[in-house]
Amino acid sequence: MSAKINAVKGMNDILPPLSSEWEWLESTLRDLMARYGYRNIRTPIVEHTGLFVRSLGEVTDVVEKEMYAFEDRLNGEQLALRPENTAGVVRAAVEHSLVHDGPKRLFYMGPMFRHERPQRGRYRQFHQFGAEALGFVGPDVDAELIVLAADLWQQLGLQDVTLEINSLGQLEERKAHRQALVAYLQEHESELDEDAKRRLHSNPLRILDTKNPDMQGLVNEAPKLMEYLGEGSLAHFDRLRALLDAHEVGYRINPRLVRGLDYYNLSVFEFVTTKLGAQGTICAGGRYDGLFEQIGGKPTPAVGWAMGIERLLELVREEGAMSQAPTPDVYAVIPAVEAVPVAMKVLRALRGQGVSAVMHAAVGDGMGSMKSQFKKADGSGARYALIFGEQELAAGNVAVKPLRAEPDAAPADQFIESLDNPAAWAAKLKH
Ligand code: ATP
Ligand code: MG
Repeated sequence: MSAKINAVKGMNDILPPLSSEWEWLESTLRDLMARYGYRNIRTPIVEHTGLFVRSLGEVTDVVEKEMYAFEDRLNGEQLALRPENTAGVVRAAVEHSLVHDGPKRLFYMGPMFRHERPQRGRYRQFHQFGAEALGFVGPDVDAELIVLAADLWQQLGLQDVTLEINSLGQLEERKAHRQALVAYLQEHESELDEDAKRRLHSNPLRILDTKNPDMQGLVNEAPKLMEYLGEGSLAHFDRLRALLDAHEVGYRINPRLVRGLDYYNLSVFEFVTTKLGAQGTICAGGRYDGLFEQIGGKPTPAVGWAMGIERLLELVREEGAMSQAPTPDVYAVIPAVEAVPVAMKVLRALRGQGVSAVMHAAVGDGMGSMKSQFKKADGSGARYALIFGEQELAAGNVAVKPLRAEPDAAPADQFIESLDNPAAWAAKLKH
């Protein structure tokens, strides 16, 4: 045997039965987005590296340390696996003039790639579900996006999710705040860690976002951006708050919430939980009115969020209402190979009527014993076994054996159906 090749570190296989949790969550999300009028967008996983450098900012963790960037060895282009998808959505919107005939509500889902240290809730290939509202000035649509997410938590039965919001104001306001912030941090330069020292002049706002426990006291006392916001920014923030209050969506204002990426302005928010250890942010987003221009489009206001699917699923497993893996309606027990053609024909006819049917297929010599087949039928979770026995077939019939009793009832008796016209009795087998 040759040496085994495993998956790349930090990149996970998603196998049954867990994959059905993914499918269930994905369809829950799709339904919800449809109810809010958001439409699906699918952009490539690989983009030009420059797109992310320009949109996320050069001095961000993602661009500095986490991006899978490489040269296309066939033509020398600088490419990257997408670390997030807002940049790709905006790139596509600019490229195809998506917003020229009016604003758009979009959503996406798919894998993202960041070279981080793999740990609970942090992977190198992970999945995001994201929503982007392009061309709306807010704060009504900002509130819509937040309420939408709150609806999702409710639908999933999640209790321990709290909303944190902040306003990053506008560029000019951040500049004034930045001066005060840098001055304050310089006064305390000896208390700064390496990362913070490096960011002091390139991206001081991000220092507020530090996870270093030794620096918490320092950043808590730092000048607050909120105090530098002008009338327009404050009005936007107040209206957002009023809308959230009207929807009874609770929140906490977190003045240190600055988000990891450079493109945000005005509203920023995160949904966090205490149930997932250090990786407690399950959904994060904000307004990014400058991003279209930054990547060569016309000025276009926009707002969005992205949620981490792995973290969300873990949380649902922990405290929410996870759906059960789907089970087939019937499992076909086929005692002898001679019965396979008839059985396959009947199963196909049943499937045509919407019945989910699993055939017992050979794994070694012959079909295996009846006992082992019934064990498989039971293990499949099917509600009925269809028994294609010699006697039944000779009489033109198939036996239907209920495998699961209704709650508080004795298992129903076995019955016989005709092989001629499975469509006539298919409905009896369906959930
Ligand atoms: P964190 O502070 O946890 O590193 P982030 O600010 O880098 O998060 P965003 O870029 O805002 O994360 O991505 C949105 C969401 O995607 C996060 O809130 C999280 O749920 C999820 N996410 C981000 N990075 C990872 C990862 N490496 N593995 C799994 N999920 C992730
Ligand atoms: Mg990160």
